Amino acid sequence: MVLNILDKAKRKEELSIEEIVELLSITDADELNALYDTAYFIKESYVGKVAYFRGLIECSNLCIKDCYYCGIRRSNKNVERFQMDEEEIFKEALWAYEAEYGSCVIQSGERQDEAYISMIERVVKRISEATKGELGITLSLGEQTEEVYKRWRDAGAHRYLLRIETTNPKLFAKIHPEDHSMEVRKECLAALRRTGYQVGTGVMMGLPGQTMEDLAKDILFLKDIDIDMVGMGPYIPHSDTPMGLEVPAYTDKQKKQALTLGLKMIAVTRIVLRDINIAAATALQALEYTGREQGLKCGANVIMPNLTVTELRPKYQLYNDKPCIDENSAMCRGCLSGRIKGIGEEVGFNERGDSQHYQNRIKD
Ligand code: SAH
Ligand code: SF4
Repeated sequence: MVLNILDKAKRKEELSIEEIVELLSITDADELNALYDTAYFIKESYVGKVAYFRGLIECSNLCIKDCYYCGIRRSNKNVERFQMDEEEIFKEALWAYEAEYGSCVIQSGERQDEAYISMIERVVKRISEATKGELGITLSLGEQTEEVYKRWRDAGAHRYLLRIETTNPKLFAKIHPEDHSMEVRKECLAALRRTGYQVGTGVMMGLPGQTMEDLAKDILFLKDIDIDMVGMGPYIPHSDTPMGLEVPAYTDKQKKQALTLGLKMIAVTRIVLRDINIAAATALQALEYTGREQGLKCGANVIMPNLTVTELRPKYQLYNDKPCIDENSAMCRGCLSGRIKGIGEEVGFNERGDSQHYQNRIKD
């Protein structure tokens, strides 16, 4: 049955929710390999064997939100808070440009005050001007008003990542405080689309109580809203959070299971959505050192090497076991590109690597 579904996918036929659930539920090793191979085949035919780098700048761990799973949530008093200034962010972006990364991602906890909004606006403009618009600028700065998204877009940002986290309303309500709303997230995603961004969203997989059916619906949601990019990753408990307190740290077996679920989600998302960009989340590497390369082999085509200065890395821990916190950006570049060549792929140096899906949709 699994092989029939995979053949159907190769013939570009639509899969039903039941078929998607069946793929996500695979446990047999041969069937798993067949799933990954099909996803890779579809990736190759739609987006090629090129991995694009997005240098990740984690510019602040200040956050007004209190998501129950996240290590930098507002109520975590054990975090030493930091905020990079404009100059520091600019320098890291320029490093990415000079390292031929093609794009950068500016990410932080959420802030909605004017001082922050205008600082981001200025720095995006500065990066855009200094790199003659050649360096792709992705923002991942949470929920904002449409007007703010527009200001940042006008300054030169052109992609935005905002995960929906889960599309199951009951689960969403369980992992967030009452004043965090899924409807607001959906409205933000719609506003981003209206404002002209390439829009990315995604979910966490392996949340307590989450079912394969939930995950299948998540994938269909991504398709429904016609997303350009997906960034999703395994949920990893953080010991200083309400959700992390409830469970002990993952055992090796649980890590392996979480990694496999992450890889299956990437593979099935590639099979169903085909021409989008899919990031191999850093959280995969927290579960196994080569987790991100395995993500590429299962259908992902984007990697986000960390550019954050080594001293600040331990302060931006969304989950436990964050990898490479004692390394610097140059080490990440060398070590990652070698590993990518090792799996037979090229790195798209100096290319912005816009999503094929986005390029097709603006042509229409
Ligand atoms: N504040 C912004 C960007 C930083 S958080 C925002 O929330 O969009 C980026 C992502 O980290 C979140 O979307 C969430 O999916 C992920 N994340 C947070 N805590 C995590 C955890 N414990 N395990 C795995 N991913 C986590
Ligand atoms: Fe803040 Fe994002 Fe963490 Fe939620 S997930 S607490 S918004 S940094």
